[in-house]
Amino acid sequence: MRIFNFSAGPAVLPTPVLEQVRDELLDWHGRGMSIMEMSHRGKDFTGVIEEVEADLRELMGIPANYKVLFLQGGATQQFAQIPMNLLAGRSADYVLTGSWSKKAYKEAQRIGDVRVAGSTEADRFTRAPRADELQFDPRAAYAHICTNETIHGVEMFELPEPPAGVPLVADMSSHILSRPMDVSRYGLIYAGAQKNIGPAGLVIVIVREDLLGKALPTTPSVMDFATMAEHGSMLNTPPTFGIYLAGLVFKNLKAQGGLAAVEEANIAKANLLYSAIDGSGGFYVNPVEVASRSRMNVPFTLADPALDADFLAEAAARQLSGLKGHKSVGGMRASLYNAMTIAGVEALVDLMQDFAARKA
Ligand code: PMP
Repeated sequence: MRIFNFSAGPAVLPTPVLEQVRDELLDWHGRGMSIMEMSHRGKDFTGVIEEVEADLRELMGIPANYKVLFLQGGATQQFAQIPMNLLAGRSADYVLTGSWSKKAYKEAQRIGDVRVAGSTEADRFTRAPRADELQFDPRAAYAHICTNETIHGVEMFELPEPPAGVPLVADMSSHILSRPMDVSRYGLIYAGAQKNIGPAGLVIVIVREDLLGKALPTTPSVMDFATMAEHGSMLNTPPTFGIYLAGLVFKNLKAQGGLAAVEEANIAKANLLYSAIDGSGGFYVNPVEVASRSRMNVPFTLADPALDADFLAEAAARQLSGLKGHKSVGGMRASLYNAMTIAGVEALVDLMQDFAARKA
């Protein structure tokens, strides 16, 4: 019995993918062993990783002059690894739009010289910044953004435009593959797997080739993008099971018709939930400016926080889980990743309307 899992991550995965994993767990393709028991250097696994990369390239339209890396350490490790690889003795600009971009900025401060190009913290991170609020340094090594803030529920639908020659570096952990994105606008994209890709333990980095080879001399070789690219992400043992599972998710997205079709479904889910919030007469409130509302992570508060526990108990009774909001924001948060079905959102909206009618 599968419940509706609204967790921000690790998060719901497509049921057909999990069924396939189950079916292949003891015996992958007649080999008499699971994929996680195989050598990463053998023909079988190298075939898997090549196909996973090809499918990701096709889904996202990744240009040929970008490398795709399958790494470990999560997005948090990238907060340090990115400055190690790209700063090259210069300074970098950070746009602060929520908890995650702020953490990335703080970690980068440990590595080198970084500055804030703009911040919406004074507005409690409830919107994406306007272009005229951002002051980029034209000599910056890169400009870092988080295109979907998982905790604050703020998504960028228009990209900041740093000066020519300053590559945009984006943390897309919580909305990668949720809609088509123009990869060529970025110097580097990174995303932890445990939302829209697969299991925790895998992080994907998509990096333009001309940005490779500038790592600080002290950068460990497993953290050097150039070294990892040279070795096809296999300088050491990669997270093989996560890569295999990500590949099944990519096949599933392709079978749905690719990212344009996925986006359409995500818009329908998000519209349903935001309409329920906005139509509740203030019983439920989402604080984010309409144009910046995330389609993936929807935080909302109840007018009376004393009702939170009741709401969560009723949600649990209806098989709706993972709705408790992040402690820094409070209230609820519903994460509507690709694998969340419209039926799940309908069930949540039913609860919200029924609950409000009884408690308002
Ligand atoms: N960036 C964003 C946008 C995230 O949502 C998260 C995890 N929730 C992270 C970074 C950190 O990921 P990890 O825990 O895998 O290091």
